[in-house]
Amino acid sequence: MTDKLNLQELVRRAFQSEIDMGVGEAIINKQATLPSQTVVVEENKQATTQVTSSYANLDEHFAAISSCQKCSLGKTRNKFVYGVGNPNADLLIIGEAPGAKEDELGEPFVGASGALLDKMLAAIQLSRQTVYIANILKCRPPENRNPLPEERELCFPYLYEQIDMIKPKLICTFGLVSSQALLDTTESLGGLRNKWHEFRGVPVMVTYHPALLLRNPHFKRDAWEDMKKLKVSYESMR
Ligand code: SF4
Repeated sequence: MTDKLNLQELVRRAFQSEIDMGVGEAIINKQATLPSQTVVVEENKQATTQVTSSYANLDEHFAAISSCQKCSLGKTRNKFVYGVGNPNADLLIIGEAPGAKEDELGEPFVGASGALLDKMLAAIQLSRQTVYIANILKCRPPENRNPLPEERELCFPYLYEQIDMIKPKLICTFGLVSSQALLDTTESLGGLRNKWHEFRGVPVMVTYHPALLLRNPHFKRDAWEDMKKLKVSYESMR
């Protein structure tokens, strides 16, 4: 457990990363205050969907599912995008579905949005090696359309099994599609942000997808606030 003094120092130093994240002018001389650690957990229906993994580890799981053809996306994908990062991560990041670059390389969050995600993580002293990153779908939907309900339903058990094996202490969903899917809600991103939710007993934070931040930089300030809260909770739970 990191003491409060160290947390304040961590947050103060994190302000210095605002420039890297592209939030705006540096405010590193501003007195940093700890965001509230109050966790308001909201129930969701899928939290009761208990899918448990019978696999020994993520490698075994990947080997078992990477040729999946349960939905039509199996026929159109180039590469199966399983996930990347620390298999024992305390923080799990969940995105939507592979895009063109991810489909080409077989890794989630690459390209421009991946580079911004790396900066967002670096801003709170984390990296894609210390967290785990996965999507709600393992295969790219054509033309980057949103996942269909039946595709989500067929693919979700794989993500549940990953969560069961990784056992994260925190989950952060990036973007509306992954947030609505994981939390089984139709609420807007604005309605889902700024409060903690719960998925199978794990606190869930909702924030903007890096791709949206690239198109709408004025949302970066709010995303940065989310990152600071995530960092404080991350440190307090370790
Ligand atoms: S998207 Fe999921 S369910 Fe569909 S083929 Fe790919 S791995 Fe299988």
